[in-house]
Amino acid sequence: MIANLLKGSRGPSANDSRFLLDVHRRDLPGLDTMRRYGDDEEVDLVVVGAGAGGSVLAQRLARRGWRIVIIEAGPFWHPDEDWVSDEAGSHELYWNQKRVIGGEDPISMGKNNSGRGVGGSMVHYAGYTPRFHPSDFETLTRDGVGADWPISYWDLKAHYEELEREMPVAGQNWPWGDPHSYPFSPHPVGGAAQMLWRGALELGVEMRVGPVGIVNGTFGNRPHCIYRGYCLQGCKVNAKASPYVTHLPDALAHGVEIRADSMAVRVEVDGQDRATGVTYVRERDGIERHQRAALVALCAYSIETPRLLLNSTSRRFPNGLCNNEDQVGRYVMVQGASQIAGRFPEELRMYKAPPPEVSSEQFYETDESRGFARGFSIQTVSPLPIGWAEHVLADGHFGAALREYMRDYNHWAVIGVLNELLPQPDNRVTLADERDEYGLPVARFDHSRSANDERNMEYSKDVIKGILQSSGAQDTLTIDRYAHLIGGARMGTSPRNSVVDADHRAWAVANLLVADGSVCPTQGAANPALTIMALSSRLAQRLADKQVGARTAA
Ligand SMILES: Cc1cc2nc3c(=O)[nH]c(=O)nc-3n(C[C@H](O)[C@H](O)[C@H](O)COP(=O)(O)OP(=O)(O)OC[C@H]3O[C@@H](n4cnc5c(N)ncnc54)[C@H](O)[C@@H]3O)c2cc1C
Ligand code: SF4
Repeated sequence: MIANLLKGSRGPSANDSRFLLDVHRRDLPGLDTMRRYGDDEEVDLVVVGAGAGGSVLAQRLARRGWRIVIIEAGPFWHPDEDWVSDEAGSHELYWNQKRVIGGEDPISMGKNNSGRGVGGSMVHYAGYTPRFHPSDFETLTRDGVGADWPISYWDLKAHYEELEREMPVAGQNWPWGDPHSYPFSPHPVGGAAQMLWRGALELGVEMRVGPVGIVNGTFGNRPHCIYRGYCLQGCKVNAKASPYVTHLPDALAHGVEIRADSMAVRVEVDGQDRATGVTYVRERDGIERHQRAALVALCAYSIETPRLLLNSTSRRFPNGLCNNEDQVGRYVMVQGASQIAGRFPEELRMYKAPPPEVSSEQFYETDESRGFARGFSIQTVSPLPIGWAEHVLADGHFGAALREYMRDYNHWAVIGVLNELLPQPDNRVTLADERDEYGLPVARFDHSRSANDERNMEYSKDVIKGILQSSGAQDTLTIDRYAHLIGGARMGTSPRNSVVDADHRAWAVANLLVADGSVCPTQGAANPALTIMALSSRLAQRLADKQVGARTAA
């Protein structure tokens, strides 16, 4: 009630990033004076990956006095020079390194699923920041599918609330899942999303504005969004939340070292099954180094974290670190993310707004009458011209027809779904025969859909087609695609069903943590970034408060 009244005037109490940012410069503040550690100095924690999970973990624990090094494969960004208002020019933001794909429904890798560089994938994420629903944590018990988490939504609730203040999240009061409000009021809605919202209402589908991690107002030294639509190219305004602006400035101010352009190649363990640190290679000289640490946290996301574990072989772990039970790399999930575009007589100019605007979670949970378990969410999106060309091509138009559709861009509006596809053990990351520039086997990701997944995707497309029809669309074009990555080193109740326990500790190596999207046993139909951050926030609190007790190796 009080939080609702105070709205954005109550900022986060333990994160000064918004004040540390420079009004006139976009570089990471504190980079020039960043603390440095020697490889031989045993730090309290070495984190692999400066993305959503790793940045929050480091920021929280640095504030509690921990000495921390983050090893990050990609570069420090200098947004004024490196980020451009252009889709093709943003290629460097993605994880473009070689990966092999397979299975009956192979997932194309690259710009749509992961990023590389300080700030991680959120540098070029769209900005939708929904919470998971309480049901996501117990799908096996409730619906007989998927898996139960060893923690519940209520373990994360306070962390969701704190992160929503730190981002800060803007949106209407949220009626779905655990109903809640947001610290910032909803953004105004652009013409394209308004058109779709009206159609949805006529069809009886309720949609709400947001939730987005985009400043609506001012927030410390972060200005209001200017509605120019380049969120997926890295926000040069600092209006869109990513660890680069929300957590890493505060982390640096509290003594974290980020070692960029450094690829972690192995986690080393001693004869007592304790991690001693991380071996990494710096891009500039190619020399292997070893950073010693009392505790290691892998935060390299759903493909690279399992790959790093699988590549960390030893006599004790010949099939990969913590892979004694053949669990590493299993249960990797993506969300079905089909999008349908509708043509309208009016000029809508969908690029004149952030891509995320209005969404619905009305179809999120299981409804047996639909003929499949679990559900999907609905979100408006707004592809820029190259994304639009991909959409038109996917519907089978090229040559003169493609050019005509491109010329007609300003008349189109796009709406999409996020389907909860269920975890399956054979949707997994393994090592391919091919090697990367460091001589390491690259990841192979096999993916196939279940019959439940297919029914969910088909049903959801009918719903958004209905929205376009009731909005008055004259023509529609469909693209079938996937988004996001989750799983691959999931948390569970035993080494037989998981890689880590409820405190993110590897079952086989007690001082090795996994704190990124790979720990999630299910993915819901919500975009994952806020949940990944909330998991790290909870873990950091438990580590700092010494609630993570000693456990000998399993
Ligand atoms: C185009 C796009 C749009 C998206 N839109 C949304 C959205 O609207 N809402 C949402 O919630 N989510 C969205 N996501 C997903 C979201 O960004 C990710 O789920 C989230 O950032 C994952 O967090 P993470 O900590 O697991 O990994 P990341 O944030 O990806 O961080 C992992 C980091 O580890 C580094 N790394 C990997 N391997 C190594 C290694 N061996 N050594 C050193 N460093 C390494 C990587 O360079 C990276 O910086 C989107 C993603 C993309 C790509
Ligand atoms: S639309 Fe807003 S949040 Fe997106 S890039 Fe532009 S200023 Fe940033």
